[in-house]
Amino acid sequence: MSDRIPSVTTRAVRASIATDSAHGAVVPPIHLTSTFAFESFGKPRKFDYTRSGNPTRTQLADAIADLEGGELGVVTSTGMSAVLLALQVVSPGDVIVAAHDCYGGTQRLLRSLAKRGHFEVVFTDLTVAAGLEVIAARRPRVVWAETPSNPLLRITDVRAVADAAHEVGATVVVDNTFLSPVLQQPIALGADLVVHSTTKYLNGHSDVVGGAVVAAAKPLGDELAWWANCLGITGAPFDSYLTLRGIRTLHSRMRDHLTNAEAVVDALCEHPAVARVYYPGLSTHPGHEVARRQQSGFGAMVSFELAGGTASVELLVSKLQYFTLAESLGGVESLIAHPATMTHASMDADARRVAGIGDSLVRLSVGVEGAEDLVSDLTEALDAVAHATGDSRKRVSVSTTHRKPAPVDVVLLGAGAIGRELVAQLNAGSASSPLRVCGLIDRSGYVFSPDGLPRERLDQLCTLKAAGQPLSGALEGRTGTGTHALGEIARHALSRPILVDVTPAETTGVLLEALGKGFDLVLANKVPLAASQASVDRLHAAAHSAGRRILNEATVGAGLPVIDTLRKLLDAGDEIQSIEGCPSGTLGFLFGALGRGETFSSALRDAVARGYTEPDPRVDLSGIDVARKALILARAIGFRGELADVSVESLVSGSMAGLSRQEFLARAGELDDHWAARVAVAGREGKVLRYRARVTANAIAVGLASVAATDPLATLNGTDNQFTFTTARYRDHPLVITGPGAGPAVTAAGVVNDLQRLEQSVAREVRAPRAKQVGVLAGV
Ligand code: PLP
Repeated sequence: MSDRIPSVTTRAVRASIATDSAHGAVVPPIHLTSTFAFESFGKPRKFDYTRSGNPTRTQLADAIADLEGGELGVVTSTGMSAVLLALQVVSPGDVIVAAHDCYGGTQRLLRSLAKRGHFEVVFTDLTVAAGLEVIAARRPRVVWAETPSNPLLRITDVRAVADAAHEVGATVVVDNTFLSPVLQQPIALGADLVVHSTTKYLNGHSDVVGGAVVAAAKPLGDELAWWANCLGITGAPFDSYLTLRGIRTLHSRMRDHLTNAEAVVDALCEHPAVARVYYPGLSTHPGHEVARRQQSGFGAMVSFELAGGTASVELLVSKLQYFTLAESLGGVESLIAHPATMTHASMDADARRVAGIGDSLVRLSVGVEGAEDLVSDLTEALDAVAHATGDSRKRVSVSTTHRKPAPVDVVLLGAGAIGRELVAQLNAGSASSPLRVCGLIDRSGYVFSPDGLPRERLDQLCTLKAAGQPLSGALEGRTGTGTHALGEIARHALSRPILVDVTPAETTGVLLEALGKGFDLVLANKVPLAASQASVDRLHAAAHSAGRRILNEATVGAGLPVIDTLRKLLDAGDEIQSIEGCPSGTLGFLFGALGRGETFSSALRDAVARGYTEPDPRVDLSGIDVARKALILARAIGFRGELADVSVESLVSGSMAGLSRQEFLARAGELDDHWAARVAVAGREGKVLRYRARVTANAIAVGLASVAATDPLATLNGTDNQFTFTTARYRDHPLVITGPGAGPAVTAAGVVNDLQRLEQSVAREVRAPRAKQVGVLAGV
């Protein structure tokens, strides 16, 4: 006989098979007895009374413990009695830190027992770092996690929670009901106890209610087995028999569940009646990366929001043939539930809203029926919903050839002139664009709606901001730093989220947070990319490890395809020798005007009045902005160094630097003669004065230059930017890109271009991770 340890699949199928010594029954017989005869006086057998022990129940307990990789399992009468049993490790005065979105029945039990003084319970979001801080601060006896959560399928990093909990000596309990041990084994991730409602996937046929607790270590398991008997909550033999029968097919069922869930998610993502899909297998799900790490499949629970409200849900449910409207999950048959009126009806509307459970949210437990039947059933019902909502856009999309992609949730960091212009441009775009702004963040706080902020609301918020009011003061505005706001926003399962940074501030911390939460980034803000090399490296490393992208066309030359061109050249194997030009609309405008004989002061005031300058025009004149752009370009071609390494010529004399902005503008006329003289000197040599950046992979120089009238720079118009690429291939005839380069409208247009590019590439990317799931499962 081979020494090979059988796979977990084999062990599940063969649990207690052919162990009957009495008659050689292949399937172990069921022991439907409440009591057992003693062998003789004072000599009980292994089992004496079914509440304390029963062979059929023990077979099930051993099988579940084996699947979970624990030392001892206890089978209970329901999932809730398993929860109650795990709570026996707590004494009065102890604290429990529990996931704020754990199963409603668990919450009810925790609250009710806490109210009676059994312990203190603290509910917190364990999917974010703040949850770990709560553990450190409260030093609980038990940390209670559940992942994925119900119904939004949020993912908790079990190892991170277990590490934080063990640091303070807490026992870690993980409710593994939603995945089953086939897809997740919390003990291997650090959990001390695993809880199951075996009513769900383990039994899998919706004909038993039951539960189980598995202990990683035997002493704790023995203690709980004692309590299970003491409380009288052990499982019945008949239920145990059925559940063990269910477990024999658990692996095969899970494989079919997953295949079907993928097909269903695909259909939902593409259907116009669906506004948002919650599924950890989507690369844009905030918990996607953690799920990939700690799960071996993304599960078969799928939630989604319909574009309409409760009426749409009612219509959908009435049209479905193969999704039965019922609570529970994990059976072979597909079920549909409406959390707001069913599983989560006990929460008040406000609490539901905070938890992100809207009236349009629907939860599916995808069964093992034929995938094509489930998909066509759902698609037809969703088609009916799209028709009924009467939206022509949706009616067009009902045909299978015109699928509307899932929305792209855009969060704007910064609501200044560029941010407001961006909102205006997005608002002016097509109503069918998947881009939807769902959050605005400024220094004071934020405004957010998981369903997207309607256009009128965005207009109102922009008006408020233009009047100098903070977002925290807006209706439903909240206070908080950018990082806090983003953390709060990311608690909602956003669809393909993108953070757009249109601030002029150092925002690296917020950007890192966003990448970690699954956001792609679009930057108009130069500061983070012109920060220290170490900081920029950190940003790129975070994007790389999260599989996210950073686009920043609007940081150099506004919307001009400068960075795009650069990438194309590099991708094509060309070698960039230098980039030279004027990447400042303000300075281009200024020197153009001086060349036409205007005075410095009038040209400057004109630039300020047109909104071309930074609030303080001396920022432009100092060259620092050009230096940042040059640094970003240089880093793109291999320069490794700091802003301090850039040689910059400032056009603000020392005496002018100390003035207030107003004084400076008032006294700008004092510089008129100086600049007129310099222009004249250049003119006498047949040259024109320009502010120029010169970038190579080794050096960056930014400052004034007299250029020949034939130089491309001499022909610059208005606020145009210009970039001349000299490369190995374009050595004799350098590539010149010239185009508009200043003002909020141009910058916002560059941002819109990046958004659109991301939207299209993300749409293609979304499929890949789900396809991988099948591969993962194949190894089960
Ligand atoms: N845990 C989770 C995650 C559940 O979903 C449920 C029930 O839905 C339970 C525990 C409780 O299980 P039972 O209904 O078997 O008592």
